[in-house]
Amino acid sequence: MSAPLAFESQSTWYEAQAERQPVEEPLSGSVETDVCIVGAGLAGLFLAKELTERNRSTLILEARRIGAGASGRHGGFCSPGWACRGAQIEERVGLVKAKGLFDLSREGYQMVRDVLTAADVPFTSGILHPSTYSNTEGLLRTLERMDKDFGYQLEFLDSDMVKGLLETPKYYQAWRDPKGFHFDALALCLLLGEALQKQGVPIYEETLMKQFNQTSSGWEVTTQQGTVRCKQLVFCCGGYGGKEFAKLRTKFLPITTYIVVTRPLGKKLKQALRTLDGISDGRRAGNYYRIVEGDRLLWGGDITAFGEVDSTRISEKMSRDLASVYPQMVDQSGSIPIEYSWSGLMGYAEHMMPEIGPVEKDLWACTSFGGHGVNTAPIGARLVAEGLCGSSERWRAFAPFGFPWNGGFLGPFAVESSYRKMQIGDHWRAFRSRW
Ligand SMILES: Cc1cc2nc3c(=O)[nH]c(=O)nc-3n(C[C@H](O)[C@H](O)[C@H](O)COP(=O)(O)OP(=O)(O)OC[C@H]3O[C@@H](n4cnc5c(N)ncnc54)[C@H](O)[C@@H]3O)c2cc1C
Repeated sequence: MSAPLAFESQSTWYEAQAERQPVEEPLSGSVETDVCIVGAGLAGLFLAKELTERNRSTLILEARRIGAGASGRHGGFCSPGWACRGAQIEERVGLVKAKGLFDLSREGYQMVRDVLTAADVPFTSGILHPSTYSNTEGLLRTLERMDKDFGYQLEFLDSDMVKGLLETPKYYQAWRDPKGFHFDALALCLLLGEALQKQGVPIYEETLMKQFNQTSSGWEVTTQQGTVRCKQLVFCCGGYGGKEFAKLRTKFLPITTYIVVTRPLGKKLKQALRTLDGISDGRRAGNYYRIVEGDRLLWGGDITAFGEVDSTRISEKMSRDLASVYPQMVDQSGSIPIEYSWSGLMGYAEHMMPEIGPVEKDLWACTSFGGHGVNTAPIGARLVAEGLCGSSERWRAFAPFGFPWNGGFLGPFAVESSYRKMQIGDHWRAFRSRW
């Protein structure tokens, strides 16, 4: 058994909905495979799927359970794009390559949609991005560019249309992605896990990779009770990777974000939100939320390098946050009743793009998808599978970003100060719009 982490005491709404199989046996003894994958989140699960489709033998080592990391506890929003903003990507690699990357992110979005559709897992289309400051011209310009340069059509909503959907004075205009959708995060992980297990792909749960060593024919991976000998090794550890990942651990930072799910809110919720779209406000570290189970609200937000894991404190903090946007949801006790609260870690590289590609010969990384991993982890996995099998070098699209150092012990302070600066900018723009 791996040492329990503080976040494991949190109960997520997704876990409460899920019908999990009993824990898979941890690895014991020695096994051999072509490709050993570490981490059973979206990156690891999609990678195993892609490799199996290419007839490569593979297995997954998972420290906790399938989907226990970010992939089974995220907001459930899936749309094209990357954690790094489009303008920053374009600035760094130019329009042609930025368009190529956007197309890859669309391919990843489609991979998720295809899996859910084939298995009849329900999802709800439409993601609305209201602006917290008045910005008609800016939004229209962005939408026009997305259409002209990236071939992707988005919809514009003026302030009156937004007010017709969301009962809060906080928002102005919005853009809407009609193709974006939202769904049950953990359900997708469990679906992928079950399909792999049916195909005979071993997923060893509660099996922590402790170390890895090079051999004459590849790698030997050591866990608490066993070893894996493999030709190729891939790290899909997201923000949960520790020192056992050696050099890779110095290339990303774990960043925390929070989600709560309210108790049933009845009419108050229906009056406040007159749309089934997922909502993600336009701020850099803003709120994302959606109605679940008909009358509960799943509310996510905040982003910090110094995370909180105590469920009660997360509930209090997020209840206040929600009340600042929808005060009408506050009950007689003076707060919004929260039933589930949890935190999750996202792996972020300094450039906010994924870290995909070989770290050493036959040792690959497929990680650091940040806060936009639902579509990007699957396409990252496909590119790594193609690279490992020698069928394409599409993973080189990420070469311009590389694997920069995470700043060591100063990294979290630098990240925290840049998030706080962004928040000040958000508040300032919202303040100016009111005057
Ligand atoms: C609260 C939250 C909300 C989010 N909302 C959204 C959203 O709505 N839309 C979106 O696109 N993205 C969202 N994201 C981001 C997205 O969830 C992640 O980018 C994505 O799930 C990362 O997938 P992954 O497979 O790389 O990592 P993870 O899902 O974190 O998986 C990594 C796995 O590696 C395992 N592991 C680590 N170390 C070891 C080891 N030594 N041995 C064995 N196993 C190990 C971990 O236990 C974990 O299961 C959100 C993230 C969070 C935390």
